[in-house]
Amino acid sequence: MTEKLYDQDSFLRTFSAKVVSCAAQDGRFAVILDRTAFFPQGGGQYADRGTVGDADVLDVQMEGDEIVHYLSAPLEAGTMVCGNLDFALRFRRMQNHTGEHIVSGIVHRLFGLDNVGFHLGDGDMTVDYNGVLSRADLDRVETLANEAVAQDLPVRAEYPDPALLESIQYRSKLELTENVRIVTIGDVDCCACCAPHVTSSGQVGCIKILDFERYKGGVRCHMLCGAEALEDYRRMYTGMHAISLLLRVPRDEAAQAVERMQQTLHERAYEIAGLQRELALAAMQNEQPVGNALCFFAPAQCGMDALRYAVNRGMERAAVCAGFCAVQNGWQYCIGSAQADLRAQSRAINAGISGRGGGQRSMIQGTAAADAQSIRDFFAHYEPEIS
Ligand SMILES: [Zn+2]
Repeated sequence: MTEKLYDQDSFLRTFSAKVVSCAAQDGRFAVILDRTAFFPQGGGQYADRGTVGDADVLDVQMEGDEIVHYLSAPLEAGTMVCGNLDFALRFRRMQNHTGEHIVSGIVHRLFGLDNVGFHLGDGDMTVDYNGVLSRADLDRVETLANEAVAQDLPVRAEYPDPALLESIQYRSKLELTENVRIVTIGDVDCCACCAPHVTSSGQVGCIKILDFERYKGGVRCHMLCGAEALEDYRRMYTGMHAISLLLRVPRDEAAQAVERMQQTLHERAYEIAGLQRELALAAMQNEQPVGNALCFFAPAQCGMDALRYAVNRGMERAAVCAGFCAVQNGWQYCIGSAQADLRAQSRAINAGISGRGGGQRSMIQGTAAADAQSIRDFFAHYEPEIS
């Protein structure tokens, strides 16, 4: 059974240990030490990183009673080695993890909800609660959580004897009866947990509840604490600052300014669509049918929607109305008919205008590569089967 040094001292960053065993496994080396400060992956939290001897710690897993370190290089069994934690990473995780205790303790006290899912990755932490919370609820929790940070409450981890444990009210995801490690944060939270924590709530730093969404009948909250909350704030600030400069408005008016801009863009898009239709319609109206078909070329800026609009109107003037609009390497086309089955004839039409496309009985769309005169000649002699 590996001795868990992190259990007693979460700030231990270097330690010496004896190599119990080492086995090659899938390109890595599974190493068991007699004791370790590396916290293994578990409870939604990633494993610690660092080095043991000259080897990098790639992963750490709890396997039975043993903690297995997956290393980049082998170690010799029986030798003494030095372990070094990536403590900057560990401290961030302790800030986030302890902050989660504070928030979950307050959520439990105010709303009677439990933490039923937890994920702590890099720059990302989520907590799932088994009931619905509003933004206003979460703002209230966030304020109280940051007050608990400011009070710099002691964080204690203990193994109470079974009799004492019976009398303690604590949050727990599992029905544990022996060797229960109780983590207490002042009067804010009391929870069964085996992970490393900071030793006072002040070390958590800022607690920020970010986005939240409905999840499995409750809510999933994204939150960050300490250094990661600061980094997130810095990114947000930089983004908001750039937006406010671009819009030439104060930061707290940027959202309304974007809303106004969206409204203006929407109105412009509507106006442009109307003008495109008028352009395409004028191009159609300026042409006369030749034989069975009315073939027209609309300005390039019209686009397919306007082309389709003009073709629909042109179908009243000829058996077949074929509209073209320049695109890179040729044309896009829309061909309509109230009388002919264009879907059945699309292969012949595409062959005649070097085109690709298809569609419905009354309308086909696609692209064509033939030159304008060849296209005009094709439709001048086009004799559709009228049904
Ligand atoms: Zn914990």
